[in-house]
Amino acid sequence: MKHQAIREQLFETVVKVNEVDLIRLSAGNISIRAGENLAAITPSGVKYCQMKVEDISIVDLDGHLIDGLTPSSETPMHTAIYRNLPDVGGICHTHSSYAITFAMLGEEIPPANLELFACGAPIPVALWACPGTQKVGEVTVEIFRSRPDLKVVLLNKHGLVAIGRDLHHAYEMAFNAEVGLRSYHQALLVGKPQPLTDSQLEEIKAAYRK
Ligand SMILES: [Zn+2]
Repeated sequence: MKHQAIREQLFETVVKVNEVDLIRLSAGNISIRAGENLAAITPSGVKYCQMKVEDISIVDLDGHLIDGLTPSSETPMHTAIYRNLPDVGGICHTHSSYAITFAMLGEEIPPANLELFACGAPIPVALWACPGTQKVGEVTVEIFRSRPDLKVVLLNKHGLVAIGRDLHHAYEMAFNAEVGLRSYHQALLVGKPQPLTDSQLEEIKAAYRK
């Protein structure tokens, strides 16, 4: 099998996102940068619980299929991020429940807990872009470019996109975002969550630096 190592690397995260319920059925897609001009990405329409290593698609950064099954319909977004943000090595796009919930409200999420802080909150909601179009890549790239510390963006009425220096990092950011959003949602049900203050944020940054 061609590109075996990179496919296996992607597949490890396929198993994880399915196990922790970040991706259900085939709703969502993940990818990993492979060398200069390629990426490995999950195929279109294959349920994560049934996916096999050889199903993984290999595409060039213009989205052309090189090997494997038909790539995810969100391939244009993934390749746009890799083309425009050279430090990104992995991408995790989920339709996880709390990401969808807040993506429907269209309001920026404040850094109300450590998980959201780790994702670079405040987390913005991108302008509406129809799933599977080039526009999803355009609105996402524009936000990430203007906010170098931001790792997660909510896609309007859709889900989230997490980026990382590698796929494991992107997976962690997607996981943190979902936990942070779930806790934020619970706090909204019982009271008024207080975002971390500027001085608390400085304290945390200083502690992380140590
Ligand atoms: Zn999607």
